[in-house]
Amino acid sequence: MIIILGAGLTGLSCAYHLGDTSYRLFEAEQRPGGLCRSDTINGFTFDRTGHLLHLRDPSCQKLVFEELLPGVFKKHSRRAFIHSHGTMTPYPFQAHTYGLPRAVVRECVLGYIRAPQIKNPDTFQEWALTTFGEGIYRYFMQPYNEKLWRVPLESLTHEWCSWSIPRPSLEEIIDGAIGIVHRNMGYNPVFWYPRKYGIEVLPAAFARKCRHLETNHRAVKIDVLRRRVLFDNGREESYDRLVSSLPLDELLMMAENSPDEWKVIARGLKRISILAISLGIKGCFFGRKHWVYFPERSFPFYRVGVASNIESTLAPPGCSNLYIEASLAHPDSDRESVLHQCLTLLAALGLKEDPIVEHCFVIPCAYVVYDHFRREAVPAALTKLMKHGILSTGRYGGWKYSYMEQAILDGREAAAWAKET
Ligand SMILES: Cc1cc2nc3c(=O)[nH]c(=O)nc-3n(C[C@H](O)[C@H](O)[C@H](O)COP(=O)(O)OP(=O)(O)OC[C@H]3O[C@@H](n4cnc5c(N)ncnc54)[C@H](O)[C@@H]3O)c2cc1C
Repeated sequence: MIIILGAGLTGLSCAYHLGDTSYRLFEAEQRPGGLCRSDTINGFTFDRTGHLLHLRDPSCQKLVFEELLPGVFKKHSRRAFIHSHGTMTPYPFQAHTYGLPRAVVRECVLGYIRAPQIKNPDTFQEWALTTFGEGIYRYFMQPYNEKLWRVPLESLTHEWCSWSIPRPSLEEIIDGAIGIVHRNMGYNPVFWYPRKYGIEVLPAAFARKCRHLETNHRAVKIDVLRRRVLFDNGREESYDRLVSSLPLDELLMMAENSPDEWKVIARGLKRISILAISLGIKGCFFGRKHWVYFPERSFPFYRVGVASNIESTLAPPGCSNLYIEASLAHPDSDRESVLHQCLTLLAALGLKEDPIVEHCFVIPCAYVVYDHFRREAVPAALTKLMKHGILSTGRYGGWKYSYMEQAILDGREAAAWAKET
C-alpha cells in the first residue's frame, strides 16, 4: 500500500499521478490544499498570502491549463515595486534606482562597478556583496533579507538565490539609474491567476480527481520498522511506501524506532514563521500596483500586496483586498503587537478607514532557512528516510525554497517512485 501524507499541491499531485495504482491520501485539516487554500469572508477572497502561478514546464502547463482547469486562469504582467527612502521604484531594486536620493543611486552604481571579487562565495552575505556591491547590499539586500530571515546573513548560504533573485548586467544597472525600466527581470514578470475564487481552485481541481482522500487525519507517529502510521484519531495504517509532504523536521520528530540522530537533525533545521494579515477595505490602495516590498527596518512587514489589483473578483465592488506579510521570530510571537504596528504604518501609507474585514493567521513553517546545517543535513536525512521506504518531498518535505509548479512536479516524481515497487 502507498500512503501519502498531506494534501497540499505535492500530495494531491502525487495522488493524481498515481492514476489507477492503489493509494491512500491523508490530510490533517478539514479541507485539502495546504498553503494554496483561499478563504472567502464577507465577499473578500483571501489567499494564504499572494499565490501567483508561474508555469514553465510544458507538461505542467498542459496539465493545468488544458486538462484540469481550461479557461480558468488569466495571464498578468507583474506590477511590483520597492518602497525605499519614502518613494516607490520598480522591482527589482538593484535594476531600478532612479528616483532614490542621488547619493544612494551613486553608491549603488559605484558599488556595483567596484564590487569585491570574492571567489566561490559561501554565505549569502558574500554572494550578495560580490554580485551587487556595497550600495545595493546596504539599501536592499541586507535590510530586506535580515527582516525576512531573522538570522545574520553570514549564517545563510546562497543556494536559494539562483532562481529567485534577478542579477542585472552593468548596462541594466545604468539604465535603471537614469530611469529606463526593464520590466521582464526575474522569475515572475508574467504569472497566471484564476479569474474567480482565488488560488484554491488549483488544489480543488486535483482533489476532485483523487479517489482516496481522507481529511481530518493528522499523522502523529510513524513506526519506521513496522511501517505503520498512527493518526490523531487512533486509526493506524500500514504502508509499503510512504510519500510525506509534511515539514521534514516534524516527520523526523514523529518517527519511532528510528536512530536518535534523526531527532538531532530535526532539531537543527531552522524555519521562519510569518504573520499574514489579510484586510478587506473600502476604496483602493497603492493605485494599480500588485505588490510592494519594504526593505527598511522601520516597517515591520516585508511585503504588502493588493490581491484585488490582480483580480477584481477577490473583493466586492468599490473595495480592495490587501495582504501584509511580516516575518516572526517564533510562531507564538506577540501577533497583536505586530498587527498593531502594521496597521499604524499602513495608515501612514494611506489606509484611511478601519478595515471592513481583518483576517490574520500565522504560517508556522513558511520559509526554511538555508544555513550551513541544512546543506549537509537535508540530503543525509532524505537518504536515511528513503532506506526505510519514505520519500519526503515538496516545499517542506524537501526542506527547500520552491513554488507551486515545483510542488506539482515533486508530486509527479513521487508517484513514479512509489509505483516502482
Ligand atoms: C507566504 C507564501 C507565499 C507563496 N507564494 C507563492 C507564489 O506566489 N507562487 C508560487 O508558485 N508559490 C508560492 N508559495 C509556495 C507554495 O505555497 C508552495 O510551494 C506549495 O503550496 C507547497 O505545497 P506542498 O504540498 O509541498 O506543501 P503544503 O501546502 O504545506 O501542504 C502540506 C500539507 O500537509 C498537511 N499536513 C501537515 N502536517 C500533517 C500531518 N501531521 N498529517 C497529515 N497532514 C499534515 C498540511 O495541512 C498541508 O495540507 C508561497 C509560499 C508562502 C509561504
